[in-house]
Amino acid sequence: MKKVIVIGGGIAGISAASYLDGNNFEITLIESSPHLGGRVKSFYDDDFKSYLDNGQHLLIRGYESTLDLIRKFKADDNFIFQKEFTINFRDRINQEWYLKISTPITTLFNFLRFKNLNFRERISLLNFFSRLKNADDFTTDLTVLDFLRKCNQDEKVINNFWKLIVESALNTQIEKSSASVFLFVLKKMFVENKSNSSFVIPKKSLYESLIIPAENYLNEKGVSVIKSCGVERILIDDDYITAVVDRSGKTYKADYYILAVHPAVVNKLIPQIDFQLDYQSIINLHLKISYQRFENKFFALWDSKVHWAFFHKNHITLIKSSADELLKYSNEEILQIFIDELIQFFPELRNELTRIKLTKQDYRLIKEKRSTFLSDLNSIKERPQLKTRFKNLFLAGDYVNTGYPSTIESAVLSGKMVAEEIHKIN
Ligand SMILES: Cc1cc2nc3c(=O)[nH]c(=O)nc-3n(C[C@H](O)[C@H](O)[C@H](O)COP(=O)(O)OP(=O)(O)OC[C@H]3O[C@@H](n4cnc5c(N)ncnc54)[C@H](O)[C@@H]3O)c2cc1C
Repeated sequence: MKKVIVIGGGIAGISAASYLDGNNFEITLIESSPHLGGRVKSFYDDDFKSYLDNGQHLLIRGYESTLDLIRKFKADDNFIFQKEFTINFRDRINQEWYLKISTPITTLFNFLRFKNLNFRERISLLNFFSRLKNADDFTTDLTVLDFLRKCNQDEKVINNFWKLIVESALNTQIEKSSASVFLFVLKKMFVENKSNSSFVIPKKSLYESLIIPAENYLNEKGVSVIKSCGVERILIDDDYITAVVDRSGKTYKADYYILAVHPAVVNKLIPQIDFQLDYQSIINLHLKISYQRFENKFFALWDSKVHWAFFHKNHITLIKSSADELLKYSNEEILQIFIDELIQFFPELRNELTRIKLTKQDYRLIKEKRSTFLSDLNSIKERPQLKTRFKNLFLAGDYVNTGYPSTIESAVLSGKMVAEEIHKIN
């Protein structure tokens, strides 16, 4: 039986190990941290009496490989599947409205009553979506900002609507984001199959919803999962990897090696593989509240310093993507900025939020630096393929050139593609 070593137990490594044929390969997964999941991470908080995620993750139905994997793990019940693409918005004067994209009539109606935009701006937005199918594919050299301007999107629509959508989807500033990556995502969501666009939201923490079922699946499948074991060196002989060595000096040998680590680590382990990507942070603020008052699970905040507010049973999670600009502030300053903002959008929470602000208790601020690679124009040229110059080494990870931005789907797809490649040569 041929042996495969997967280095890195994030979603890409989990995916590769899950899609490899367990009857034909002896699979070992080596993860440096005590937990699987990588950037999909949760921790149990005694004060909150629940798991908190390092970042609220949002999936879409168009994440075909991810949903396939979730089904493999028998974890479908851990997710809420939105019926149709719906975003609920709130603004500073507490108006609420939603954007639903479903049947042509509903969609038209929704665009026409979109608040905070005048008639002309609504029509320009509607036009954009109705022409998406034929949108220019030759956009490799365009940023999203240039592309939207080329599509006659008004500056107000760009600043209030598109900025929120682009920064959330690509975690990249609108003036840097690649138009072709953005179009790839939009077409996947709204052109390929309408139901692709609706959201899939974990019911509990990511650890409970996804990582525990994944680990159970790998164990049942007989994958040898070694945690708290960082690979320190990769031994090479000409065009082949001969072994990997962990921190304690122990050597592991296999026929195939899958490197499924964060892109910034790849070059440190194998200097011969060189690509340059830039990264962006995401900030999540969890605020303990006594109970959930809102029917909606989440809101997009219109023209706000924060992008999204998610309501859980006993806490609110505020999300700011593309957040490098906030890293210069202390945690307490960020707490203040976010709470002041939230009080304006949700005055009904004023008392609870003011208490947190004054006591500086009952909050958890998570700054995830290098959360994702930037989907900028440079990334299109730099993202590597899964095959490397070493005949028995493959790359898996969200950064591998899958077409998707830095997402769970890209990570899962890369792992699946590597497994298929190894099956093909055997
Ligand atoms: C705050 C936040 C919010 C996000 N929101 C979303 C979202 O809403 N939707 C979405 O689709 N995506 C989202 N993402 C992105 C998504 O989490 C990532 O794209 C995905 O998890 C990347 O998985 P990966 O396996 O490629 O890499 P990683 O998760 O980075 O996994 C790499 C693994 O390798 C391990 N490792 C590193 N070095 C070694 C070594 N030497 N030896 C052994 N193991 C090693 C690491 O510990 C890690 O477990 C978000 C990310 C963050 C941080």
